[in-house]
This record gives sequence, structure tokens and C-alpha cells, in this order.
Amino acid sequence: MKKREQGILYLVIPCFNEEEVLEETARELDQAMSAMIGDGIISSESRIVFVDDGSRDRTWEIISRWARSRPLFAAIGLQANAGHQNALYAGLMEVRTCCHMAISMDADLQDDPALLPDMVKRFYEGNDIVYAVRRSRNGEGLFKRASAFVFYRFMAAMGAGIPKDCGDFRLMSRQAMEALSLFGENRPFLRGLIPLLGFPSAQVFFDRRPRRGGKSKYSLKNMVGFAMDGLISFSAKPVHMILAAGIFLFLAAGTWLLFHIGNEPGTREVIAAIWAATGLLLTGMGVMGQYIVRIWQGQTGRPRYLLKDMIGVGGDKDSI
Ligand code: UDP
Ligand code: MG
Repeated sequence: MKKREQGILYLVIPCFNEEEVLEETARELDQAMSAMIGDGIISSESRIVFVDDGSRDRTWEIISRWARSRPLFAAIGLQANAGHQNALYAGLMEVRTCCHMAISMDADLQDDPALLPDMVKRFYEGNDIVYAVRRSRNGEGLFKRASAFVFYRFMAAMGAGIPKDCGDFRLMSRQAMEALSLFGENRPFLRGLIPLLGFPSAQVFFDRRPRRGGKSKYSLKNMVGFAMDGLISFSAKPVHMILAAGIFLFLAAGTWLLFHIGNEPGTREVIAAIWAATGLLLTGMGVMGQYIVRIWQGQTGRPRYLLKDMIGVGGDKDSI
């Protein structure tokens, strides 16, 4: 499909227990989208699509009501909580045949809707992917900023470089989404995968704002899991490091023995050596295990998400 002015834009917004903030988000996004439609930048067939990631609050009730009653709104419901990345992936995959471009963003207005016209403009200029890069993160707590800082640098050091400070606020063309659909990743780590697609891309910059309501859905445990997914899907370096550590320890222990032949080691040294070697072995097994778990999960062939309902996507206002 050729790029043209007045393309159909779908906003894809994963939501997990976001009832507190949805009202305000919908109001701001409605304004931003209506203004763009009024200015003739995008088609009136464009939509704001909320994806309910198996919320346990009133999220689905709210977004499905809007999808039935307001022409600009659509809703996708997942059967169970699939996680942010899967919910986002589900949204992109389900809308990709109905639009020329999709922009993914958070449900909490941390991603500034004022950027939307600029992102669309860069799309019309010939970019299939437009990243919204965080110039500052003043809206976020010290812990979040510090962990994000460490995360992006650690990934780069591990050879799994992903564009720095790009979250999941980005535009993708229909072609880019089609290309993404060909990747069989079991746990898609989108901000690492999308640069791999190799499409022409551009960046726009923004200041990340505080969450407008509700609480972050990323606990420390989620963040560690997320970082681990990114690392394991894009780098084999941890395995090489374990191998290097094993060889180093073997050589070092051998050399030490040569110099101490004939000496009786004390019990303490023996115990320390046993613990050190066991620790290294377990670490090695743990690292290998992380890769093996992903192979096992991949080969079970389980779907990444299951649809519960879809309303208003592609102009269809009936429930499936
Ligand atoms: N989210 C989701 N499923 C989850 C966790 C989060 O769909 O299991 C959504 C959430 O509703 C939000 C977005 O993903 O729209 C990003 O989450 P959040 O704002 O809590 O993360 P943060 O911005 O604090 O990193
Ligand atoms: Mg957020």
C-alpha cells in the first residue's frame, strides 16, 4: 500500500487494570485524533484501539462501551493477562490489515499525544518506523530512571544494542507490521525486534511525563523478567562469559596447584574452593537454563495471546 496523505491511523494502547486513568486518556486522545482528522492529516476511518490485557477491574467494561457507542473508538479484549509486550503485539497484529500506520503508546498519558502529528508527518516523508525518543524522564521516579539507564547500557555492553531511551511509543507502517508478523518469537521483545526489520526510520523527541493516574504495572520482578527476555533473545554473550570464566578458573587453579605441590591445604581453603566452584557451576547452569527454558517455551507452540472479543476494528461495530 502506497503512502499517501490522509492515511488511516490506528492508535494501539495496551491496558492492564487502567480504569482510573482511561477516562482522561480517552479525552486527550479523542481531541488529538479529531484535530488531525479535522486538519486533513489522517483519514476519518482512523481509530483509537484500547487492548484489554485481561484486566481484573472495569477496563473491559469501559472500553467495550466506548467501542460500541463512539465512532472513533475500538476495543480488543484478550482472554487472560498476556503481559505488556504480548498485548501490544496482539493489538498491532489484529489491526495491521485495517490501517496504513499504527502508533503504540501507554494508557497513562506518559507518552505525549502532542507528538502524534509530527510522527505521522515523518511517516508521509517515507519512514516506515518513527521512534519517539525520551529526551528526559522527569515524570518518573529515581528508581525507574536509574534502572532504565542501567538497562540500556547493560544491553549495549552485552551486544544486544537497542536504540537508547526508545520505549514502545512508536509508529509502524503496515508493511513494517507485516514484516514483524513473520517473526516467530515466543516472547516478543519489540524494542529489540523492530530495529531488526531494517525499514527506513526516523526519530522525534519528547519529555516523558508522569503517569496521569493509577500505578505503574511494572513491578521489580516484571522489570527483571523483561530485561532477561531482551538479553536472552538478542545476545549469546552470557554463555560465552560463563565459558571464559570456566577456562580462567581451570587455568588459575592449575597454576596455583603447581606452585603449592607438596603443601597440605587447610580445611578452610578446601571448603572455600568447593563453594566457589559450586557457585560457578550453578551460575553456568542457570544461564544455560534461561536459554533452554525459552527453547522449550518456543517449541510448545502455544499462542502468544487469545482473543476474547474485538469491537470496532476495521469499521465493524459488531462483536465477533
Ligand atoms: N500493561 C499491559 N499488560 C501488563 C502490564 C502493563 O497491557 O501486564 C500496559 C499498561 O496498562 C500500560 C503499559 O502497558 O498502558 C505500560 O505499563 P506501565 O505504564 O505500568 O509501565 P511503565 O510506564 O511504568 O514502565
Ligand atoms: Mg507508563
